Amino acid sequence: MSDVAERLGELRERGLYRRLRLIEGPQGPTVTLDGRQVLLLCSNNYLGLADRAAVREAAAEAALRWGAGAGASRLISGNMEPHLQLERRLAAFKGYERALLFGSGYLANSGVIAALAGRGEVVFSDELNHASIVDGCRLSRAETFVYRHADVEHLAWGLRQAGERASLVVTDGVFSMDGDLAPLPQLLDLARRHGARLMVDEAHATGAVGPGGRGSVSAAGLSGEVDVVVGTLGKALGSYGAYVCAEAELVELLVNRARSFIFSTAPPPSAAAAAMAALDVLEAEPELVERLQANAGILRRSLAAEGLAPGTSATQVVPVHVGEAEATMALCELALEKGVFAQGIRPPTVPEGSCRLRLTAMATHRREDLVAAAHMIGVAAREAGLVEAQPLAA
Ligand SMILES: *Cc1c(COP(=O)(O)O)cnc(C)c1O
Repeated sequence: MSDVAERLGELRERGLYRRLRLIEGPQGPTVTLDGRQVLLLCSNNYLGLADRAAVREAAAEAALRWGAGAGASRLISGNMEPHLQLERRLAAFKGYERALLFGSGYLANSGVIAALAGRGEVVFSDELNHASIVDGCRLSRAETFVYRHADVEHLAWGLRQAGERASLVVTDGVFSMDGDLAPLPQLLDLARRHGARLMVDEAHATGAVGPGGRGSVSAAGLSGEVDVVVGTLGKALGSYGAYVCAEAELVELLVNRARSFIFSTAPPPSAAAAAMAALDVLEAEPELVERLQANAGILRRSLAAEGLAPGTSATQVVPVHVGEAEATMALCELALEKGVFAQGIRPPTVPEGSCRLRLTAMATHRREDLVAAAHMIGVAAREAGLVEAQPLAA
């Protein structure tokens, strides 16, 4: 057996083998999967902007006007009007001096952390931070202190140990797999007192929480205070790409030092134009954000009525905890048979033994979709022997 086959076999044995499923059509509240129509409860298209007419048209028009691709890195020849316009718009939206586009959130996190911290310094990272933050820490060659989830005491202890070497505290704003919020005021206070910067990843917060969807930093009243804010264009904003907001000088440093910015082709003009159109929709219809969070509440309550506790979620990301990988994937398949697609999440995305279905509400779901989805998952969980009790009245 080849080493590749062996490695795949090992993943299968541990219940960690992953495969791609094919969705037909756009990321709507329902999708066709393997020829069947099912409710979609695992897309990050939180506001329905990926399939919104105005956003699709803006992408198409920009492709016709500017071409399909940017042709080069921004520093070579790929810097175009749609990039500049979107950066100005994002900076204003987030309340920062400047914004800089990256190819994706993954590239932004890996590039920014490595540009801001280096050998001999210490980066402080929440244990449940996204993999792209973990990889950014590794690339930086700084020492990484992983503090217990949202545990400011543990972080304070680490900062004291690091002394002068403390460089950067980095956290998800809304945690991607649990839907809870980082304690931003305390994190900022600690970072300040120890001479470190605070960086917040708003991947699941932009368009989803805060006034007009401005994110968790804005919700905490800390726009312009948190040193670095990262966000993706690929989730609530319905497009592709990412951005970093900071003061102008720090952004200048990123232009000069962030390798994932320097050595990667600029995002296609169509992706920038789509994100711009998404921001237009968001500013014209801030009630989309309220609908999203109202839907998240309906989903959490409906799951609770099925005996499925949604953990610490306070947002549109709602986990159904199972534990082991195989039981989680069995529940995912059973739920799919009943008509709801909610992806099972396993290590290394989440810690060993904390596998779950990760449900996401969208503003475009109808109340009855969410109640039905929770019920189907409840029935599936009882069939799988994961929940004993009959549901309480919904
Ligand atoms: C999705 C995600 C990213 C990566 O963003 P992409 O634009 O999809 O590469 C980064 N951070 C968090 C917390 C995420 O959930």
